Amino acid sequence: MPLYCENCMKLVDGPICPACRNRRLREVEPGDFCLAAEVPYMQAEMLKDVFKDNGIPFTERSVLGAAIAVELGVNFGRVKLFVPFNRLAEAKELYEAFFSGSAVLIPDDAENPIPDRELLIGHVYRHFKGGLYRVEDVAKHSETLEEYVVYRKLYGDHSLWIRPKGMFLSPVDSEKYPEAMQNYRFEPVENADEKSPEASE
Ligand SMILES: [Zn+2]
Repeated sequence: MPLYCENCMKLVDGPICPACRNRRLREVEPGDFCLAAEVPYMQAEMLKDVFKDNGIPFTERSVLGAAIAVELGVNFGRVKLFVPFNRLAEAKELYEAFFSGSAVLIPDDAENPIPDRELLIGHVYRHFKGGLYRVEDVAKHSETLEEYVVYRKLYGDHSLWIRPKGMFLSPVDSEKYPEAMQNYRFEPVENADEKSPEASE
């Protein structure tokens, strides 16, 4: 049986959840709600109807963008839909049938699952090795539709870099870097004056 992370409500290869670093994983049970899809708000509404029509119970969680949505008067947020483990395969089949041809990735299939952290565009982040970077924007890979963070080095040559969003927001590998002073690979800096010590990647 696959392992289950109660924090993230998703199946994990184990022994540690890659998104939240939870080590207390357990075997999944038939009624455990598992992540079936992460989709934009409009598609979530349609997908919920499909689940309802097929008698699949679900719960939902807004990923981010609630504040943005209110500001713009439109819902740009993304929604995570969870279904019981014993209905997961069926839910994914329905999802694939319903959205076939449309460009949405199921996060379980994505190479770098995106942790539940908000990305602050325009904000300065500190890399766990000390260098400061400003997040310029998010770009989409034309072939895989994976999201990439575009960020600028605030020291040295001030060059522009990209990295998969899931990886940018991921925790530091505490086994590889036990001396790391922060939990995440990149953490937002309060009141940054955008001066960075020379640091190596
Ligand atoms: Zn987790």
